[in-house]
Amino acid sequence: MKTLNDFNFETKKALIRVDFNVPLNASFEVTDATRILSAKPTIIKILEDGGSCILMSHLGRPKGFQDEFSLKHIVSKVEDILGVGVKFVNDCVGETAETAAANLEPGEILLLENLRFYKEETAGDTAFAEQLSKLGDIYVNDAFGTAHRAHASTTIVAQFFEGKKCFGNLLAQEIESIDKVMQTGEKPVLAILGGAKVSSKITIIENILDKVDHLIIGGGMAFTFVKAQGGKIGNSICEDDKMELALDILKQAKEKNVQIHIPVDTIAADDFSNDANTQTVAISAIPDGWEGVDAGPKSRAQFHEVVLASKTILWNGPLGVFEMESFAGGTIALGNSIAEATKNGAFSLVGGGDSVAAVKQFNFQDKVSYVSTGGGAMLESLEGKTLPGIAAILS
Ligand code: AMP
Repeated sequence: MKTLNDFNFETKKALIRVDFNVPLNASFEVTDATRILSAKPTIIKILEDGGSCILMSHLGRPKGFQDEFSLKHIVSKVEDILGVGVKFVNDCVGETAETAAANLEPGEILLLENLRFYKEETAGDTAFAEQLSKLGDIYVNDAFGTAHRAHASTTIVAQFFEGKKCFGNLLAQEIESIDKVMQTGEKPVLAILGGAKVSSKITIIENILDKVDHLIIGGGMAFTFVKAQGGKIGNSICEDDKMELALDILKQAKEKNVQIHIPVDTIAADDFSNDANTQTVAISAIPDGWEGVDAGPKSRAQFHEVVLASKTILWNGPLGVFEMESFAGGTIALGNSIAEATKNGAFSLVGGGDSVAAVKQFNFQDKVSYVSTGGGAMLESLEGKTLPGIAAILS
């Protein structure tokens, strides 16, 4: 796996695919700069080596050149975070971009205009990728968030940098973290899958059964398993057409010696609202008119034991409707358990969509080993797929 350490960037121009697809408010101010911060180590390392950085990214989903999606809006934020001046060029290919790149001196940074102003970017157009490739000497991919897309700047461009391409620090860290769970993790390995639907996690479950010793199935997903086994789940969220599959997963787990943990009790609510009346009930005896919205105290205690006994932990998906304060307790308890296990030496990876939101909301990000920056990319990695952006660097 080629990383920044395999190259000497002195006097070289690094063409870096970053993920600066950051949220902006109505005044075009960056409201969450996590992605810019995540790219900082790669950029600084190359500058310190005596190289220069040409940064390329997409922002939003523009249709052609649209000023509101211009990356010019984020220049001052990028400068603040990097502590270095950033030049901006209002195109990402063609003469203007090429001149700006050619004039770049060691130690300088150039930010290109939004790649997605060209439809060729998402189409993975080879001629467009070749135009991009003219801008730099070495291609660095540091955008995990788009590594599952075979776009021009994330994948296709790599073919023009034979022997001159590598992963940035962020992408390398993401790959290592996933490998630690899926391949090299110290046993016992635990995966915690929560969230709303079984259907969105089936491929992950099937892939992960070969890698883990324990699997906690929580959140809304659990009710399909409970009902399939004959439990009464009241109005809880359930995918009836996935009950067969749920039973099959339980059977497969048994054959593969994976211990499955499903909540034994739940906080049931008489309405899907923060102010609903609640009661704690056995998960397989939820009264009619009530729905399970969070893990109950016995489940939290059981999960705590499993988490603390594990050396490698993957967490994807909340244990309850954490967006509502009244139903966030199970997710917070789980976060605390994982934080404790991590403090005791376990490796913990949190990734994929809503679990990252939960981790940020409840400030667990510094108490787990790694929080993935990629939603879809993370989920596809857990499904066992080789991401095109990663394969393009390895080939
Ligand atoms: P996912 O995107 O599949 O990870 O699902 C995340 C969503 O699952 C969050 O918005 C949670 O509110 C929701 N969720 C978790 N537990 C439940 C539950 N018991 N009932 C309904 N929704 C839930």
